[in-house]
Amino acid sequence: MAQNKRETLVMKFGGTSVGTPEAIRFGLEIVRQAQKDWKHVVVVSSAFSQVTDALYQSAVQASRGNLTVFEQTYQMLKKRHFLAVEELINEDSLKLQTLSTVTELLTLFSSLVQAISVLGEASPRALDTVVSMGERLAVTVLAAAFSDAGIKTQAVDASQIIVTDNQFQNAAPLFDLTQAKVQIGLLPLLEAGFIPVVTGFLGATEEGIRTTLGRGGSDYSAAILGVVLEAGEVWIWTDVNGVMTADPRLARDAETIPVLSYREVSELAYFGAKVLHPKTIRPVVEAGIPLRVLNTFDRTKPGTLIQEQLSEKEIEISSNSTIIKAVTAIKGVQLITVEGRGMLGVPGVAARIFSAVATTGATVPLITEASSEQSLCFAVPVEMAACVIDVLEKTLADEIYRRNIDRVWASEEVVIVTAVCPHMRHKLGVAGKVFSALADHEVNVLAIAHGSSEVSISLVVATQDLETTIKALHGLTR
Ligand code: ADP
Ligand code: ASP
Ligand code: MG
Repeated sequence: MAQNKRETLVMKFGGTSVGTPEAIRFGLEIVRQAQKDWKHVVVVSSAFSQVTDALYQSAVQASRGNLTVFEQTYQMLKKRHFLAVEELINEDSLKLQTLSTVTELLTLFSSLVQAISVLGEASPRALDTVVSMGERLAVTVLAAAFSDAGIKTQAVDASQIIVTDNQFQNAAPLFDLTQAKVQIGLLPLLEAGFIPVVTGFLGATEEGIRTTLGRGGSDYSAAILGVVLEAGEVWIWTDVNGVMTADPRLARDAETIPVLSYREVSELAYFGAKVLHPKTIRPVVEAGIPLRVLNTFDRTKPGTLIQEQLSEKEIEISSNSTIIKAVTAIKGVQLITVEGRGMLGVPGVAARIFSAVATTGATVPLITEASSEQSLCFAVPVEMAACVIDVLEKTLADEIYRRNIDRVWASEEVVIVTAVCPHMRHKLGVAGKVFSALADHEVNVLAIAHGSSEVSISLVVATQDLETTIKALHGLTR
């Protein structure tokens, strides 16, 4: 049996999958099962559900002199992690030791927030250290619970093995350095038969300063480790039955998609399918590692398999049966339009516009041709719109003064709805069907863009049309 085992499996558990003692029990069974088929298993864990948000808010509010959120968060963290220890760990000395580590982390959290409150400032660097507490607490409890259940395991702080650049809150991994650290920090554990339980979401700079990989980044952590460990597969355990035809919170009749290509899932993740962090895909694509998205709470479901190429048969099935494969939405964006009759005559204006936007740190999920050729239009998150307009008015002051540019303005809050249409290039009339469905539901489309890899169409619609748009397009998935 042992010779038939596959080599290395990396499994990531999301916030809901570790958020309660019951959920951790499901995880425990999953790990036990995986051990039967895989020689090495690496577990990556998120913070307990809702913990990261609470940690952020504690720090941000403390920087404004308000410690109420911190006090509530401290109590919440203590209660939930103590409860998990109480319920999951029977062995007295392990229980005591785990409670003491949890208490140490809570004390550290308290000192950090007090310091932020005294300074009156929560820098991105300080925020990363504060929010790292969520995953550090989670792996402490998880590893102890696994040990108590007889699984040979060890908690690992990813700041010891994942090396990143110093872009705090949105750090990028440095693969070569990470590989070297994994050789020292993870491989010996695996060789000695341990299951490492690694903090998702976290890393550290070469100097050892804590960083995070961006919200929802534990999926990315699993992909990074999968690549450096040359894993056979990476599995993402979450609270739904895989990647679905729409967010089940928005479309109750959403169905699981059994197989997706990397390109299709990239498009879905990039355009709002929270089930997978968009950056997760790239490392696994490059390494050709299959990725599965599975439901922690229902292991009988096959979930979604994401791989490089679909088989001929899968392509045929999906191109015959559906017009579009899935629908996603990004809420809370505004369209910024730069318009003016003289704009197109000004050399390099688009490059200057996007360089200026980049200085604000705003993400631009969509760039589109607006109705007239004399304008450029793109989406930014609502909270960045004022800042983007301000920067653009300054950068383009000359053109505005000369009337080459008439105005820079922001739309109301809108949503981007994306339809993933895998066979758009080979199939006639996909766009036509999409627009007819929208017209039938009387949805007014404010702007349109084709996805980056020709497998999707994105539409901008008014926020109040979100539900109808999802319904109209979701009808084309079957
Ligand atoms: P985790 O904590 O496990 O990482 P997330 O909340 O980050 O979980 O992601 C899972 C959630 O993603 C689901 O509960 C679901 O509401 C949402 N979601 C959005 N779009 C999709 C989709 N197309 N398929 C499945 N889930 C989706
Ligand atoms: N805990 C982190 C977050 O909530 C990372 C993750 O859950 O993937 O953003
Ligand atoms: Mg997630």
